[in-house]
Amino acid sequence: MSIEVANISKIYGSQRALNNISFKVNKPEIVGFLGPNGAGKSTMMKILTTYIEASEGQAKVNNFDVNTNQQKVQQSVGYLPEHNPLYLEQYVREYLAFNAQVYGVTKERIEEVIQLTGLTPESHKKIGQLSKGYRQRVGFANALLHNPDVLILDEPTTGLDPNQLVDIRNLIKSIGKEKTVFLSTHIMQEVEAMCDRVIIINKGEIVADKKLKELREGQ
Ligand code: ADP
Ligand code: ADP
Repeated sequence: MSIEVANISKIYGSQRALNNISFKVNKPEIVGFLGPNGAGKSTMMKILTTYIEASEGQAKVNNFDVNTNQQKVQQSVGYLPEHNPLYLEQYVREYLAFNAQVYGVTKERIEEVIQLTGLTPESHKKIGQLSKGYRQRVGFANALLHNPDVLILDEPTTGLDPNQLVDIRNLIKSIGKEKTVFLSTHIMQEVEAMCDRVIIINKGEIVADKKLKELREGQ
């Protein structure tokens, strides 16, 4: 099992951002985490990447517990946050080389992820010279550096123009052939375009968990 969430709650002050959430994600599978702004999507994703801790419940990524085995979880997961901090003055390779050092991965792997994410024609440029779609590819390349089994993508297609959108959707679909992809969005069309399954969240609670095939057949 790639992701296993059992009775997770997250309480901020007096507010329950997540209320007793449970779900599982298989491998390989592209799962859309769909819900309006404020539903709790980022909170769930940050728990799965060990960035924050849940108030209650258990979660495992690649069978590693997010509370007790954070290092193994971080090795298993590639994370693309909604607002990926990028330094516009940095060259693409410079940025990736810095993160490669943090993760302890080779120069060859940097070239591999540049190729994998379709960055090759823009890879000699500064990040500030790239379009939003290419900047998003830099985020993907970074998330893939340590060759994780699971990719967690927070609103990966938000704010892209139609051409960039098609390219990034295709990139996600190709990654999803080999890896587990868990992506959040507030747009149903994004789920329809990319996902095998949708988990719908509203006000911190799961309201549906369905295969896209079942949705199309009206079940
Ligand atoms: P989504 O990603 O679906 O837009 P979030 O997980 O960002 O939702 O937020 C869920 C709820 O938790 C929102 O009501 C938000 O205001 C609240 N929230 C998120 N982060 C914090 C925080 N650090 N402190 C207090 N409340 C927070
Ligand atoms: P957002 O703007 O989408 O709410 P944040 O800026 O709060 O997201 O969080 C993004 C940060 O989370 C990253 O810059 C990174 O430092 C950290 N982070 C959390 N988990 C991981 C992980 N597994 N691998 C790498 N970075 C992580």
